[in-house]
Amino acid sequence: MTVDVKNNTAPPRLMQAIRKAMAGTESVQERLDHFVSAIHSSMQVKVASIYLLRPGAELELSATEGLKKSAVHKTRMKPGEGLVGHVALTARPLNLADAQNHPLFSYRPETGEDSFKSFLAVPILRGGRTLGVLVVQSEDSRSFTEAEVEDLLTVAMVLAEIITDDERVGGKKAALKGITLAPVKPEIFEGKTFAPGLVKGTAHLHLPPVAPSNLLAEDVGAEQARLEDGITVLRASVDAMVSGEAASLSRASKEIYETYRMFAYDRKWVGRLREAVSSGLTSEAAVERVRNEHRARLMKAKDPYLRARLHDLEDLANRLIRALGGEQLGPGNRKLADDAILFARELGPAELLDYDRKKLKGIVLEEGSATSHAAIICRALGIPFVGRADGILDLIETGDLVLVDGEAGVVHVRPLETAQDNFAMRMNVKGALARAYDALKSKPNVTLDGQTISLQLNAGLLVDLPQLDQVGADGIGLFRTEFQFMVSDFMPKLKEQTALYRDAIDAAGSRPVTFRTLDLGGDKILPYVDPVPEENPAIGWRAIRIALDRPGLMRYQLRALLAAGAKRHLRIMFPMVTTVDEMIAARALFDREVDRAKSLDLDLPEKLEVGVMLETPSLAWQVSAVCDHADFVSVGANDLMQFFFAADRDNARVSDRYDPLHPAALSVLKFVADRCAINNTPVSVCGEIAARPLEAVVLAALGYRSLSMPVTGIGPVKAALLNLDTQDLANVIAPYMSVESRLSSLREIVQDYCQKNAIPV
Ligand code: PEP
Ligand code: MG
Repeated sequence: MTVDVKNNTAPPRLMQAIRKAMAGTESVQERLDHFVSAIHSSMQVKVASIYLLRPGAELELSATEGLKKSAVHKTRMKPGEGLVGHVALTARPLNLADAQNHPLFSYRPETGEDSFKSFLAVPILRGGRTLGVLVVQSEDSRSFTEAEVEDLLTVAMVLAEIITDDERVGGKKAALKGITLAPVKPEIFEGKTFAPGLVKGTAHLHLPPVAPSNLLAEDVGAEQARLEDGITVLRASVDAMVSGEAASLSRASKEIYETYRMFAYDRKWVGRLREAVSSGLTSEAAVERVRNEHRARLMKAKDPYLRARLHDLEDLANRLIRALGGEQLGPGNRKLADDAILFARELGPAELLDYDRKKLKGIVLEEGSATSHAAIICRALGIPFVGRADGILDLIETGDLVLVDGEAGVVHVRPLETAQDNFAMRMNVKGALARAYDALKSKPNVTLDGQTISLQLNAGLLVDLPQLDQVGADGIGLFRTEFQFMVSDFMPKLKEQTALYRDAIDAAGSRPVTFRTLDLGGDKILPYVDPVPEENPAIGWRAIRIALDRPGLMRYQLRALLAAGAKRHLRIMFPMVTTVDEMIAARALFDREVDRAKSLDLDLPEKLEVGVMLETPSLAWQVSAVCDHADFVSVGANDLMQFFFAADRDNARVSDRYDPLHPAALSVLKFVADRCAINNTPVSVCGEIAARPLEAVVLAALGYRSLSMPVTGIGPVKAALLNLDTQDLANVIAPYMSVESRLSSLREIVQDYCQKNAIPV
């Protein structure tokens, strides 16, 4: 094997001295002192100092050889302040020939550093956290060599281990937060629901923080060969994934694996690893060091694309460590105990697929987001998922008993028996309900007064499609096409878009699928497109507005939809239409694509319907006019309500302030249903309210005969509708819906009605 790296540069004396400092059983302060004196003599510098980040986020001079000892534990600075503070903030080395003339230089008279010109500082990093800064200084005005920078980075890594070790046992030098070993107390963590459901299981720490126990290699040549072997195994495993079964689960995961492959072959990443091993580190320590450097840099990045890259690099680093440990890599290969709840800081969808899916019952993250790839896939797979459980990893161990409450976004760690009993009761009730809904699956959804109400699914990814049959839905009432764009790292190509749409139509069989054209902007941001900064993105340049101003992307999508719908039934609709003109313009764009397909002799859909989403109050008042240009209307109640009540749907402080069962809102919904009926235009409601049984019975009473909702709504809504007389409820609510009504909500009235009539809501 050829190893294309420079020769080992670490001065053996320095490494020997460091080894000695590591082996001793002294106090941390004594170790730090030994470190600075070892660096001082081995690197032949005038000053070697260690600054550590203390509680309160101040850097404190904690050990020095060369500066005045009286300044130790006295000289302090904030991250960002002076040269040392700058290194802590940027997490990058700083190598200066003439430090004193640097604009950031801040003179500390108590240290006596006025005679030193050259300055080299490297961050002390662990797990993306900056723990401190290691500094060397000399009198002469020279830059330190690349090899010296490497050596100091290696020493900083060893130092980070010592500090963290001390932190773990609650030592005085604890830099940021205390970690207690082997926690035993029950704990409750409040996070956010990323995927609903209740589950009891056993904690499994995803990649427990493996600090490589052996940091310094005995034989650099042998270690270089070991690293090369690890990289070969890693690359082979990523190659296999790209062509493997997991990648075929969805186009999104295929692209994710392809991105991994790109990183796995990235020359810079591998080059940094090789350099670190040549400087004397073990391969594992080298992976850790390069990972820390990336983390520290990328965690500061605001750009979502860069932050997402951090994830890919993290995953790759983890895979390489596993390869170095001789582990077999591949989807489903990571073993779990039965009923495992996976705990991690972050998790990618590819990492998720590494685990045996039959045993994986729940997921808890310290970070993450509800719109992350992993969250979308978990919702589709029905795996309860709680995120943003801040600090939970410090207090959980593999094997702990855990209750994940994906309804309330709460995690119970090592719960008391009473909490377990309560939870078991809730699970039983949910289980019984799930069985009851399952029994309704094949029953036609007809109300007591003979009204058939179509219950459809909101979907967006391949993983959603099997649910059509699982819950017995009548079709897909809202296919959010932007999901494919959001979970990909690159803009999906025409072929990929076409394939997804075709798969959706195939999965639905004879049932209709309604594709919504791209609804981008607002909260739906693509990782590969620079967001346009806007004061009010929800009412900004989004959805159809982008499509009409820059028609290229939508025409491309319409082409894909037409190709997927060739010789089939194709339904499409446009989001966020505000005026009739916009609908006319959007339809004209579509017609152009149809003409293009005809001129190219392409097969066309055998049935074609073009609808409009009604999501703005202005269009509600023009509903009759828009019916002339739309084959169907779909009320996007999430947006309609946010604009009607001027309450941001993503702002928890205001989103629940107004009840959609407010008589004013119901009057608008009734107006739309009535006008559509007069115009003979089919109308449905999609959005969250359709999934809530109480709201759904009201919608049925207002005249809606088609509801589209998230999968969890179908069972409960059907159970309610089967016991409803729509006309009777319509008569009950009519008097409260006049313009004179002063009620803020009809909720109690409808609740009473349902209770009296045994309608389960
Ligand atoms: C809506 O606004 O009701 C809707 C279904 O669209 P989205 O939630 O995707 O904005
Ligand atoms: Mg909407």
